[in-house]
Amino acid sequence: MALMSSTYLDELRAQGRLSRQQWLSILVEAQNSPAFAEKIRSCAHAIRERYFGRTVFIRGLIELSNYCRNDCYYCGIRKSNGEISRYRLTPEQILDCCRLGHELGFRTFVLQGGEDAWFNDGRLAALVATIRERYPDTAITLSMGERSRASYERLFAAGADRYLLRHETVNPQLYASLHPEQQRLATRLDCLRNLQAIGFQAGAGFMVGAPGQTLAHIAEDLVFLGDFRPAMVGIGPFIPQHATRYAQEPAGSVSLTLILLSLLRIMLPNVLLPATTALGTMDPQGHVKGMRAGANVVMPNLSPADVRDKYLLYDNKLASGSEAAEGLEILRQSLAEAGYEIVVARGDQPPMQN
Ligand code: SAM
Repeated sequence: MALMSSTYLDELRAQGRLSRQQWLSILVEAQNSPAFAEKIRSCAHAIRERYFGRTVFIRGLIELSNYCRNDCYYCGIRKSNGEISRYRLTPEQILDCCRLGHELGFRTFVLQGGEDAWFNDGRLAALVATIRERYPDTAITLSMGERSRASYERLFAAGADRYLLRHETVNPQLYASLHPEQQRLATRLDCLRNLQAIGFQAGAGFMVGAPGQTLAHIAEDLVFLGDFRPAMVGIGPFIPQHATRYAQEPAGSVSLTLILLSLLRIMLPNVLLPATTALGTMDPQGHVKGMRAGANVVMPNLSPADVRDKYLLYDNKLASGSEAAEGLEILRQSLAEAGYEIVVARGDQPPMQN
């Protein structure tokens, strides 16, 4: 088994993809053998250094709205959660966040939110166009859920560069257990294909340790990501939220998340790979451990302080200290102590090397 997994790792480096069975044996072996997990990590870090040196790209995350028409069973801002207080930022507030972010050195803004009908194509495209005009040196990432192809085209034409839409899981049964019937895996995957075809740098991803998820499901996700070749991958541990049906479920594992970050770096050498807020929430050293595992992006929160505790996807979500844009100095220092350097740059995906 150990020898076979090592061979698969070599194959992954050479081919950039593996079969579901191969992934599964790598995952099992990595979880059972600290030596194999360390081999994966050091291989991933060497690739990270080759593509990005010791640099870290930062993204200013602006959480536009916690209204959502969807009802993802795991998510704290889902429509039928009557316990949270809803908010929506005005375009002026959002532009204020951008101004502050630009002053702080952010050269990517990530506009994320629930699927809120107020942000129709006209309003969202106008917002994107204004940001594009005011900050021509800055990349705009959207993470506003499932929209029509025409909508994505309009947002791209208005100046958006990247789009994050985690696929969550490619297993139809698991997808159906985590979402109500009207939310379809096929729609999610169509959206991702549309985004990529339009020219967005598209990002997929999933929660590690989502309720009901097994290593075999994760192996399927890795096969999908190997085929889809996204520009970005967002993965982080699942964390229960008290007002969801999964309140009593255990959180996802930090160590498995780190192993997966490394495997993603090896499979997709030039991918933009964040050490996510969920990882930082589960482990105070999450950012640094993420960088050591092969991640190269951190997304501090730029939302106005008074709404941050309302975008509660899960309990105890970090929104201060090194997760907050104004805490950038703390983040810079902790990364610098570990040998990494935050840079002022758009941080686009570099080309693949031979
Ligand atoms: N509505 C947009 C979408 O669906 O892509 C963006 C916002 S959505 C809340 C962003 C991500 O949060 C989801 O893709 C999901 O993976 C993650 N998320 C939601 N609930 C979570 C939880 N309880 N623990 C960890 N991550 C969670």
